[in-house]
Amino acid sequence: MDIVLVFPPLGNHEHAHIGLPLLKAYLNKYGHSSSIIKDYNVEIMDKLIRDFMSGDTKTLFSKNSKNVSKNYTLAQEILRGRNQSDKLKTSWATDMIYKYMAVAGDCISTVGFDPISFKAVEEEFLNVNEEAENNPVYKYIREAIVPDIIEKKPSIVGFSLTYASQVLYTMSICRQVRKINPNIKFFFGGPIASIFWRAFMKSSAFAPYFDGIIREQGEVAVLKLCDYWIKKKGRMDEIPNLAYRDEEGIIKENPIGENCPMDDIPMPDFSDMPLELYAYPKLPFQMTRGCYWGRCAFCGHRGCNSKYMVANKKKVVDEIKALKEQHDIRMFHFADDAILPKYFVDVAKLITDEGLDIVYSVFLRTEKGFSKENCQILFKSGLRSVLFGIESANTRILNLMEKGMDTNTMKQVLRNFMEAGISNHLSCIIGFPTEEKHEAYETLQFLLDNKDIYHKAYITPFGLFSDMVDQTERFSIEKVDIYNPLRHDIDGYVAFEYSYNRNQGMSVEEYLEVLKEARKLIDSVPPGANYFSKSL
Ligand code: SF4
Repeated sequence: MDIVLVFPPLGNHEHAHIGLPLLKAYLNKYGHSSSIIKDYNVEIMDKLIRDFMSGDTKTLFSKNSKNVSKNYTLAQEILRGRNQSDKLKTSWATDMIYKYMAVAGDCISTVGFDPISFKAVEEEFLNVNEEAENNPVYKYIREAIVPDIIEKKPSIVGFSLTYASQVLYTMSICRQVRKINPNIKFFFGGPIASIFWRAFMKSSAFAPYFDGIIREQGEVAVLKLCDYWIKKKGRMDEIPNLAYRDEEGIIKENPIGENCPMDDIPMPDFSDMPLELYAYPKLPFQMTRGCYWGRCAFCGHRGCNSKYMVANKKKVVDEIKALKEQHDIRMFHFADDAILPKYFVDVAKLITDEGLDIVYSVFLRTEKGFSKENCQILFKSGLRSVLFGIESANTRILNLMEKGMDTNTMKQVLRNFMEAGISNHLSCIIGFPTEEKHEAYETLQFLLDNKDIYHKAYITPFGLFSDMVDQTERFSIEKVDIYNPLRHDIDGYVAFEYSYNRNQGMSVEEYLEVLKEARKLIDSVPPGANYFSKSL
């Protein structure tokens, strides 16, 4: 095997991620057919949860879950649509798996390392005993993952890092494999590596155990990387998006290349993935890349990645149909940053005309184009759940963020979706730089006053990781340290942000207090968002 593409432990295992299946399909199209995807995360999650249900932590599982584990399998069957009469129970089944994930998260929190900062991960990496018998994660790495990689004899192992909680275990895998076979090259991609690549490259703890980082989109860069290491074609300094150390140990940063056109990207290849093991029987799919708006200040999708590209609509529908048939799955998540209403409604009409019989969720902006009529078209095609980033209900903050939204439009659009039978999920940010307490409470009040137009709301703290770092004056921040990622909100998503000082508005301590209160009043962190804090 030439290439092993790894989704490493520990992270959310709600459903398969889209990045590696797209990469595998693309590599195959351009002559690298000897690759395999290994989602070690879902394998270990499944094992840990089964052990919890039958072993020492059984009490924790049964005490918290009552009927959750019993109903979990039934919920999965319903979502698979294997029993047509169960179609109406979709919402019950979705909620059941949601609860199951929360219980599973509580159990995982008893064995996983909580990465409160990049430095803490480095320290743990330098001091940890990987031979410890009583840690099931290291035991699995030692006894299952490392031998599996060694046995495959790859030239390259590529890791997709989506959660901060994957960093420690990724580095441990690299160190253990390198000890046995020093010839295998390790490269990282995915949001955590792409955003915080400087911290990785500068880390003296990690440097001996990996060979580079692919920033932004992976397809073209990984193809050229494979051409270089496997076919001995080209040069390292010609590989777009790559950061690496040269022979003298100097950090090199190759320029970001052009994005791969959507219609050049083949259908994602899930054939290596153990789809039965994910919590939801759901496949991710992408019909667009980047964001057509691309202006929200806090968003990591700005810059190169924000170039908006759409796939041919017929290709989209043909691929969804093929995936449904190949994998006997009728539930999809469209993992697009945001989709323009007209294009989306056209795709929805095609889905209905083709009689695809799917249900799906998606991320959208509250655009006026989502009229009552269009929402009905979307429902008819199978849309059941939308996540809207509404972020704030305060006009000054919305403007400072450049969100391009107002609360009246938000309310009208949310009502259109709700009345069509689609479940709205809202995401709000507390603690945007300069935000005052009363402005944060305005958002909270908006959520309390409008409970009839959404199903669930998630409140996340502001995290600095976008190009706001280049506009410190505008956002009244200073002393940004891009080499020291950390987490302010240790109960929320396992995501890093840069450390910095705030000169105006609430302090970090103040907005975390408001956040705590808001979560009590309205919100729970989505299960699986953080496997290291108690959610029940
Ligand atoms: S709409 Fe969403 S994806 Fe687009 S820039 Fe704003 S936050 Fe980012």
